[in-house]
Amino acid sequence: MTGAPLHERGVAELAHGLAQREFSSVELTRHLLGRLEAAQPALNAMVSITGESALAAAASADGARAAGRSGPLTGVPLVHKDIFCTEGVRTTCGSRMLDNFVSPYDATVVARLKAAGTVMLGKANMDEFAMGSSNETSFYGPVRNPWNPAMVPGGSSGGSAAAVAARLAPAATATDTGGSIRQPAALTGVTGLKPTYGRVSRYGMIAFASSLDQAGVIARSAEDCALLLAAMAGFDPRDSTSVDQPVPDYAAALATPCAGLRLGIVREFFDQGLDAENERQLRAAFAVYEKLGATLVDVSLPNVGLSVPTYYVVAPAECSSNLARFDGVRFGYRCAKPKDLLDLYQRSRGEGFGAEVKRRIMTGTYVLSAGYYDAYYLKAQRVRQLISADFARAFADVDLLVGPTSPTPAFELGAKTTDPVTMYLNDIYTIGANLAGVPALSIPCGFVNALPVGLQLIGPHFSEAKLLAAAHAFQRETDWHHRAPAERH
Ligand code: GLN
Repeated sequence: MTGAPLHERGVAELAHGLAQREFSSVELTRHLLGRLEAAQPALNAMVSITGESALAAAASADGARAAGRSGPLTGVPLVHKDIFCTEGVRTTCGSRMLDNFVSPYDATVVARLKAAGTVMLGKANMDEFAMGSSNETSFYGPVRNPWNPAMVPGGSSGGSAAAVAARLAPAATATDTGGSIRQPAALTGVTGLKPTYGRVSRYGMIAFASSLDQAGVIARSAEDCALLLAAMAGFDPRDSTSVDQPVPDYAAALATPCAGLRLGIVREFFDQGLDAENERQLRAAFAVYEKLGATLVDVSLPNVGLSVPTYYVVAPAECSSNLARFDGVRFGYRCAKPKDLLDLYQRSRGEGFGAEVKRRIMTGTYVLSAGYYDAYYLKAQRVRQLISADFARAFADVDLLVGPTSPTPAFELGAKTTDPVTMYLNDIYTIGANLAGVPALSIPCGFVNALPVGLQLIGPHFSEAKLLAAAHAFQRETDWHHRAPAERH
């Protein structure tokens, strides 16, 4: 792709161009900063654009390369979801509560990507505390879908997805508690990987539901995701749920062919309100896999239909506990002139949190309260085990599961904000993987009404290399991931 404008190139191509000294990281960074600024009024993808520190980091990456100290990602720019703590740079988590919060340290993901020589261009907009499926709950206003600004980009990593889709950044970090990497990736036509729970450190990633939250990546292709995951993944002694397992060579594994792969089509995903045109695109994608030598088999996950209600007990319960730390005392928003301590707590939390966050805290507090704990929380934990067992049973027979990422393409802003349950149902196909802790990714597989739709691949624990290879094989056969929205700025 030599000669293509810099913003049209993905991570691998940029890394190559930097290594060939075709352009410098400073040139590249300046170009992308200009695009981020220009797109901000139309898309609102970012909470902060950190031009000065980005140019300084780019200059130091160029210096490292000149001195012969470069790695595969040296000088590659990216954006971080504003849920990852960044030393010296405001980390808001999309909330008024953290509007003034500047972290004294970097999240492990940020630190590792920094050590790999990447250049942070800024912090991406997101749903408040990662709660949402449309990026409309952010204190900083909604993000718009680059394919059609009347539409949502999906959530909660909507800023990350929109920035990558609009070619403002080649890659972005993101997090997925119930679908927040895969669903916005699907709705904006990019590639998003949620790794196995424990594969990537959660240290310094603001907690929503700790047993479900997982950091991952959004980029244009599986190949680019592989390059970034390699730098992010691995054991972190600061995260007690981080797993001490070697990190495979994801880039080398990309070449693994699909021939002989057994792909399970999840039966239940095709009778739960899936858009008919979306289904047609998926069936065409399955045919691509057949052509590549994979075998498609019918698979049932009998309890997966219980994922949404189970998640909406477990996630709010954990969020009500995690968000108790925001009390107006130590950091974050504090109300003006509190009368006494109780008033300080009540008004700081009342004014600092938005409506969706309050709804979750109230639901979570209720399901954990004495008398209801057994009926709701404990019951949900049991159903979670059944769902995990469904996945384990399926993976005894197939290598990967395939299905839709989201029931419909992107919907209009405001279409679902008044009905939380309708909004929650967006994640009907993604939540199961979080409950089971298994990795999953979404890749673009077509368009419906000029809006992108995604194909989801789900694998057993620690099968990221296999997932990425299967996605890469598809992307060598198709060009959906190369399609870019019209420039609107
Ligand atoms: N949309 C889901 C929710 O609102 C999932 C969010 C996420 O994955 N962070 O909770």
